[in-house]
Amino acid sequence: MHIGVDLDSVLAEIIPAMDRFHNETYHTKIKLADHKSFNLSEVWGGTSDDAYNKLLRFQQSAYFDIIKPVKGARRGIAGLNKKHTLSVITARPYLLEKKTIAWLDKYFPKKFKHIYHTNQAARSNEPFVKKSEIGKKLGIEMMIEDNLDFAIDIVSIGVPVFLFDQPWNRVKKLPKGITRVYSWREIRL
Ligand SMILES: [Mg+2]
Repeated sequence: MHIGVDLDSVLAEIIPAMDRFHNETYHTKIKLADHKSFNLSEVWGGTSDDAYNKLLRFQQSAYFDIIKPVKGARRGIAGLNKKHTLSVITARPYLLEKKTIAWLDKYFPKKFKHIYHTNQAARSNEPFVKKSEIGKKLGIEMMIEDNLDFAIDIVSIGVPVFLFDQPWNRVKKLPKGITRVYSWREIRL
């Protein structure tokens, strides 16, 4: 089957690099557990414009280049790749395409058929596509994600989702079709 794979916090361990950037630049002590919302202005304070400007600064900094793969992701992807077709569907902005492709080439060479940026993580007035639209276009039958809103969007087209447990996606009861996982080892298809 064709499996859609999210990038940040699924393949790319972005939060430690982002926290280090923020802590060293703005003298804070933010850690993973403080990310109780996916919305960075709720983690960092300030307006959503402030948060977006900080995010841009992070993406252009050396901290962005130290992002490592999520533990177990390379082995997990190598395993899935033997039987399935894999494509990356990330909310990252279009302007990061070059950096994203270079990072995937480094850590996951030739593992993904397509790499789609939906631009949902760009400024809110920019055009974007929904992950479900890309999923439909590609004929995705399964998605691996960490953002609950995106997971809900994907199940709305009848595609089941593995949701990587993170502080920002903890809810009492997950909608039907979404299965919480704690590590790549749990994803055997
Ligand atoms: Mg993600």
